[in-house]
Amino acid sequence: MLDCAIVGGGPAGLTAGLYATRGGLQNVVMFEKGLPGGQITQSSEIENYPGVTGDITGMDLMQPWPKQCMKFGLKHEMAEVSRVSKNGETFIIALSNGETYEAKSVIVCTGSVPRRAGFKGEDEFFGRGVSTCATCDGFFYKGKEVAVIGGGDTALEEALYLAKICTKVYLVHRRDKFRAAPNTVKRVEETPNIELILDSVPEEVYGDAMGVTGLKVKNTKNGETTDLSVPGVFVFVGNNVNNEVLKQEDGSWLCELNEQGQVVVNLKMQTSLEGLFAAGDLRIDAPKQVVCAAGDGATAAINAIAYVDEHFNK
Ligand code: FAD
Ligand code: NAP
Repeated sequence: MLDCAIVGGGPAGLTAGLYATRGGLQNVVMFEKGLPGGQITQSSEIENYPGVTGDITGMDLMQPWPKQCMKFGLKHEMAEVSRVSKNGETFIIALSNGETYEAKSVIVCTGSVPRRAGFKGEDEFFGRGVSTCATCDGFFYKGKEVAVIGGGDTALEEALYLAKICTKVYLVHRRDKFRAAPNTVKRVEETPNIELILDSVPEEVYGDAMGVTGLKVKNTKNGETTDLSVPGVFVFVGNNVNNEVLKQEDGSWLCELNEQGQVVVNLKMQTSLEGLFAAGDLRIDAPKQVVCAAGDGATAAINAIAYVDEHFNK
């Protein structure tokens, strides 16, 4: 019986593992289907993790984290979790390979995946000019022009953010009506260096060995194609959280989720089910930053320790 099972080994899961083991929980296993580190390992540069001042990649940032956790007894099981369920006081962790584990508490840290829009070159140039994170990568385009794809709150808010850093932002949206809140739309329309390119879809992002040099955009009404000479393309067409492990056999969810499928938590990272915690990009209102995910992981672990103490060590 594990004191705590951690599902996902990104910044949230690894930090939860560090705090859970160092805080005295026994038999803590982090189930991570790949190498630990999470989605930040795809990033070629990270500049906004506190205390990190050199030019380092996401991989460089995450490389020492597992070693630090293992020192305090965290075990890494390289396996995909297919389902977390609860039987009485005990959680059952079912793995895709058919094995099962039992745990007194669970911290789910399975993260999220930004959706891809699906245009030519998007995957090829991802991380080399195509980005899904303005807070992370916007600064690299200071004083340059960029394109933003999408018409929801995220796209418009990020366009406003980028407009403060970049000389011009082309906001490319496939319809002539935005999904974003009216006030956000108004702010965008009133921002002089945001140019709206409506009824238009990205057709192809192109570039060279150094990265992106431009984006071809097609007008869906008249079929005309325009070339935008931009070194950066930001895609904000929605986000999928990795919540599948919480889906039960009968189709219900193990705990409360919001309309976007994000896990509802309180400030202790407790979900609606006792003993089950969620941390990082998976939770409601996640700022989707490494430092925030790590903070969530620590918070969840501290409260998992208190839960196990109270319920099992009476
Ligand atoms: P994740 O990092 O998504 O980790 C979740 C982990 O769970 C993954 O390793 C996954 O393999 C594992 N997992 C999922 N499902 C299962 C399962 N069923 N079984 C087992 N394992 C599973 N943030 C910044 O602060 N600064 C930046 O500069 C920055 N740049 C970014 C650049 C890019 C290209 C991307 C994609 C993101 C960037 N971010 C940045 C955001 C940052 O990476 C995330 O906010 C952060 O990684 C979230 O951490 P997490 O632990 O919640 O989830
Ligand atoms: P979203 O609301 O789903 O919007 C996605 C946008 O991308 C839509 O405009 C959609 O176009 C477009 N799109 C989808 N697939 C596309 C494709 N393949 N190619 C081109 N365009 C594509 O996603 P979001 O903006 O990330 O927001 C998610 C949720 O979080 C929403 O409920 C939002 O309100 C909320 N949110 C709230 C705030 C806030 O309250 N301040 C901030 C951010 C997010 P269509 O419009 O044509 O479908």
